[in-house]
Amino acid sequence: MIDHAQYAQAGRQAVAAASIVCQAVQDNLDAVRSITKDDKSPVTVADYAAQAVVAMVLKQHIGEFVMVAEESSTFLRDEDNAVILDAVVAAAKEVWDDATPDLVLEAIDMGAGDTSHRKFWTLDPIDGTKGFLRDQQYAVALGFIEDGTPTIGVMGCPNLAIDMSMPFDERDEHGSLYYAIKGEGVWESRCDDGEAESIRITRLDHDESEPISVCGSVEKAHSNVSDTDRILEWIEGNGLGKVGEPARLDSQCKYAVVARGQADAYLRLPTRKGYVERIWDHAAGCCIACESGAFVTDIFGHNLDFSHGRGLEKNKGIVCAPPRVHGVLLRAIKELGIGQDTE
Ligand code: AMP
Ligand code: MG
Repeated sequence: MIDHAQYAQAGRQAVAAASIVCQAVQDNLDAVRSITKDDKSPVTVADYAAQAVVAMVLKQHIGEFVMVAEESSTFLRDEDNAVILDAVVAAAKEVWDDATPDLVLEAIDMGAGDTSHRKFWTLDPIDGTKGFLRDQQYAVALGFIEDGTPTIGVMGCPNLAIDMSMPFDERDEHGSLYYAIKGEGVWESRCDDGEAESIRITRLDHDESEPISVCGSVEKAHSNVSDTDRILEWIEGNGLGKVGEPARLDSQCKYAVVARGQADAYLRLPTRKGYVERIWDHAAGCCIACESGAFVTDIFGHNLDFSHGRGLEKNKGIVCAPPRVHGVLLRAIKELGIGQDTE
């Protein structure tokens, strides 16, 4: 039997440690960029270091586990990339004094599990790479899946202020961290301290006298902006509520933003036929939003099904919102025929 509270605390320690590593890399963006003269090298270094640190801390706390993570060590094992491996080890040392190239590679490989197991962790060490490079929002996202359903979600949002009056495009010093256990709730704390006090948060349903505020991706390729506009126009046009200007931020932080009541919906509408969402892009966020009281489904109202390998093969897009708004959004999507041509 799994002790969910113990697993969630282990996840919290792991994600907080990895978030510190990511923040340290961000503090030195230019120095890290200069390693390979490649603009993307900071995210590459932070991605690998964060994955290694999450695996190492989980192992310390819970022993053996299966993890399906986004990164593999193949690139770092290539001798041509030795400078990057050194930078990854240096970044990991921020929280892991004894890190060596071998230990780091071994830890990254702990994420090479497969989805045939009934229970496994899934990790996106840096979700929202574009946000990371812009010094804006990104997330360290760790979910635990049991029989196709996320039962634990832990998400570090290193640049997202707990104070909701702060703009999304400004980097916060402490960040925020959310963790949820299915059936038990969701908690919020600072991101840069795995021992920080956490408070339980709940998502109230939308107040009908207020405009409906929606959030979505910054990257236009990741969610259909014109379909979002059509939905919002339809809602207003049919007298189902006023709508606000959509907020844009990268990464799974969007699920947390709905969970904590800062936005009334996270909409992710298919942009092209054949794109299948990755499990690590949604497991943590889905658990966090659901535990706050929001509904999370695809655009056809189906629950997200994490039992089909590394992709959400049976789902299209995402609709995350408290119950009333969720219902209104699904109605608009159906009436407008959105997503029919992406099946
Ligand atoms: P966001 O931060 O909302 O822009 O989402 C980032 C995630 O979008 C990345 O982790 C990618 O896995 C994912 N992604 C990449 N291409 C697409 C696409 N065509 N549609 C939806 N998501 C995508
Ligand atoms: Mg991702």
